[in-house]
Amino acid sequence: MQLADKHIIHMDQDAFFVSVEIKKDSRLAGKAVIIGGLSDRGVVSSCSYEARKFGVHSAMPMRMARQLCPHAIFVKGSMDDYSYYSHQVTELLQERVPILEKASIDEHYIDMTGMDRFFGCMKFAQELRKTILDQIGLPISFGLSINKTVSKIVTNECKPNGEKEVSKPEVQPFLNPLSIKKIPGLGDSTFIKLSEMGVRKIHTLTQIPPDLMFKILGQNGLSLWQKANGIDLSPVVPYREQKSIGKQSTFDSDSMDVAGMKVLLTDMVTKLAFELRQQHKLTACVTVTIRYANFETVTQQAKIPYTSLDSILITKAKELFDKVYQKRMLLRLVGVKLSHLVGGYEQISLYGPSEKMYNLYQRMDKIRNLYGTDAVRLATVFPDKIGR
Ligand SMILES: [Mg+2]
Repeated sequence: MQLADKHIIHMDQDAFFVSVEIKKDSRLAGKAVIIGGLSDRGVVSSCSYEARKFGVHSAMPMRMARQLCPHAIFVKGSMDDYSYYSHQVTELLQERVPILEKASIDEHYIDMTGMDRFFGCMKFAQELRKTILDQIGLPISFGLSINKTVSKIVTNECKPNGEKEVSKPEVQPFLNPLSIKKIPGLGDSTFIKLSEMGVRKIHTLTQIPPDLMFKILGQNGLSLWQKANGIDLSPVVPYREQKSIGKQSTFDSDSMDVAGMKVLLTDMVTKLAFELRQQHKLTACVTVTIRYANFETVTQQAKIPYTSLDSILITKAKELFDKVYQKRMLLRLVGVKLSHLVGGYEQISLYGPSEKMYNLYQRMDKIRNLYGTDAVRLATVFPDKIGR
């Protein structure tokens, strides 16, 4: 079978956070709703299509959103609720499809290749979408095409409440008239660069020799050129095989210093959370592992609402450590792992214990990017320094 013969469905909830809020309070339906940090320094996490008509979009400063759409209903949002419904959709899909990748809190890819001989893929996807609408009650759109990139662009074009198939011979005619902005992963600075060269439509981008794209934008240029030409070989990665990140420390000499271990744990979690934010990812599961001096190894795991914030992860990791460390025996190793990773970043503004914390994290990440991971730490990592 040729690589180009894939059948990939991309499913994406419509204005996911807003839809969950409407499910909780039907009076919000049909209104301009903006979710995010409510102070002027906050950021928009999500907004209804009615608010988008006024130019509001996610990641926009809340102050600007208020100016553009003063009559909107502003909601702080609840990551617990969004995570709950996110898992519901994933579980429903997991039971029904061969290969499922969870790309973000409200997005999934399904690889139907091979199944198309038994089912019509379009009919299957339509039934799936209807099942989600009926059983979970949240609006969803999908695109069906030959690879992940094209399917995602198709979904974005038919949202909200849309479904569309773009078969192989239709791919290039479908892509050509679209703005290059529609290519997933094409950032603002690249858009400006290409615009200045007169490249605004995908069709124009396909006409540029790939080696020139490489010269101008490096590997990313080549990848954009491929996407413009409807080429994307990236596989749908099954949810259970999706990556996790972790760290562990072995002690120089076996130890029973619980406070010291928690400091170590905090330090490891801080670094992992930073890594998570750098990759624009969120985690929904924390695992703590300890190994006793006699090599007995024990593990505790907990599911949490999607997050990438240190404070939430540190609290959970310490809690798990207390649960797992039951024997008053010397320890030789402690480890922590973050799994169930999905894409998502702007939503971070929702999680924070407060907006101050959110701004603090952003600043700390900036310093780490400039001077290295160890350049800045929370005072809790050095408990002796704050007179505990
Ligand atoms: Mg969505």
